[in-house]
Amino acid sequence: MSNDSKNGPHAADHAPVISNFLRTIIENDLKDGAHLRPGLPQVITRFPPEPNGYLHIGHAKSICLNFGLARDYDGRCHLRFDDTNPEKEEQEYVDTIIDSVHWLGFSYEHDAKQHLYFASDYFDQLYAMAEHLIELGHAYVDSQNAEEMAANRGNFGEPGKNSPYRDRTVAESLDLFHRMKAGEFQNGEHIVRAKIDMASPNMNMRDPAIYRIRHAHHHRTGDKWCVYPMYDFAHPIEDAIENVTHSVCTLEFQDHRPFYDWVLEHLADGGFFQRPLPKQYEFSRLNLTYIVTSKRKLRQLVEENIVDGWDDPRMPTLVGMRRRGYTPEAIQLMCERTGVTKSDGWIDYSVLEGCLREDLDPKAPRATAVLRPLKLVIDNFPDELSVECSSPVHPHHPERGNRHFPITKELWIEQDDFMETPSKGYFRLFPGNKVRLRYGYVVECTGCNKDAAGNVIAVHCSYFPDSKSGTEGSANYKVKGNIHWVSAHHAVVAEVRLYDRLFTDPHPDAGGKDFLQVLNPNAKEVVTAYLEQGIHAAQPGDCFQFERHGYFVADRVDSVAGKPVFNRVVTLKDSWGK
Ligand code: ATP
Ligand code: MG
Repeated sequence: MSNDSKNGPHAADHAPVISNFLRTIIENDLKDGAHLRPGLPQVITRFPPEPNGYLHIGHAKSICLNFGLARDYDGRCHLRFDDTNPEKEEQEYVDTIIDSVHWLGFSYEHDAKQHLYFASDYFDQLYAMAEHLIELGHAYVDSQNAEEMAANRGNFGEPGKNSPYRDRTVAESLDLFHRMKAGEFQNGEHIVRAKIDMASPNMNMRDPAIYRIRHAHHHRTGDKWCVYPMYDFAHPIEDAIENVTHSVCTLEFQDHRPFYDWVLEHLADGGFFQRPLPKQYEFSRLNLTYIVTSKRKLRQLVEENIVDGWDDPRMPTLVGMRRRGYTPEAIQLMCERTGVTKSDGWIDYSVLEGCLREDLDPKAPRATAVLRPLKLVIDNFPDELSVECSSPVHPHHPERGNRHFPITKELWIEQDDFMETPSKGYFRLFPGNKVRLRYGYVVECTGCNKDAAGNVIAVHCSYFPDSKSGTEGSANYKVKGNIHWVSAHHAVVAEVRLYDRLFTDPHPDAGGKDFLQVLNPNAKEVVTAYLEQGIHAAQPGDCFQFERHGYFVADRVDSVAGKPVFNRVVTLKDSWGK
């Protein structure tokens, strides 16, 4: 099975829809025709990443939400790069973000048109709109320095003070703005601010900045511009240019909404946009336990070589999770199941793992893998004999056929399936005890060999030739233990990476904690495993359930033809912290 989803999910085959406040708003808007406009769908959403890093599981929540709403209400969702910060942005990030959106199973194509946009394509329009606001006296050029501006901004409960430049003439502000654009000034010498209310109880309405000087090379517009719009000014305009109807963002933007509306109302009055205008709605961000999602912290993990790159399977980046073997379906299911609310909270990581098992269990073919090998010798088994055993590819899908593998005199079993002196309730191999070798014979343990240090290096047993699984005789044997094995002669030797959570603390960076202090030293263990014969044909990205162990995916980067490397995606049961 490959866990790539080539075609986007359709209404019928994605996770069942759970209603939420955004759906209620949209359904009411549809009823009222609130966004009825000729030639346009009534629901247009957007996912607006800044191309300054790799997407993570938190972004997936926003992607599933925005693209999911568009899909379910016959609308469209735009992928828009909010590339208004030239210093931090790069083409590399644009490419990986596009890739991740597709991988998650979504498409920005609608009615045969690609709805992929860049804020930088609107720089001319944004500039003209700022100019318009200055012309009408709704914005001015401020020439205070950053410290003066901060000091005059006031605080919560303390009104700000008007800038001494607030009442300069329109002509003077316009002239300065033009000269800002012409490159006559240094960074920070002047800034354009909306003229609203320095005493507003909402700090975001105290003459927010809308354009600033930045002498910086932009990854798309090059050196054309040295003035760039501020996020809060650009964002509503980008939405309006694209005819977005429902602009969904996370809760921290709630206090920015009055300015969002202020910008659009003034520009609609000026004839730049038609009403109805886009509306902003906020929901609570996804907080998953045992991970960090701050871009700065993720970058630190990569740059300090704590992980092996952005796509390290321990990373909560979408490229990392993909490599780890997480599926788009499982991520979508988790996003759907955890709902959309306006109250912040933590989602336990086990919810995501549960979704993953739910998705993988019906798909993943079964296979046998011995991860911590110990030799088992069947002393009464003829030296050259090889007997074919078989078992279903999938226990619930007989139509998928059987897999076949030979049993021989020497096998590999798991080290912990043998105890020389059994503890109470131990039913597997110990001298004198009988177990079934899964899909093979019943054997009775006769003893073991040890090295000079006392470590067990081989276990011995004898088998009962009439006990083979699937034959009549097998019913005569009642044993409690049932262990897996692979033939030593036929086994495929493979590197297997046993991944676990990257942090030991459920809230690694909460309350100013140093997340580097709670790294899980056992988050990656590499073992040399013996796998069932058929596995050598596994293709990168193929996922299996290794019986009794969990789900494993053939690594996309390090697997080579005939020599797969496996990553543990998730164990069979949640044993974390137990
Ligand atoms: P920063 O702004 O610090 O660089 P960011 O995580 O906000 O980081 P953006 O590229 O601006 O990154 O995010 C794109 C979109 O993803 C935004 O609309 C943002 O609200 C959303 N988003 C980011 N993190 C989460 C999260 N944990 N849960 C839900 N949505 C998120
Ligand atoms: Mg952001």
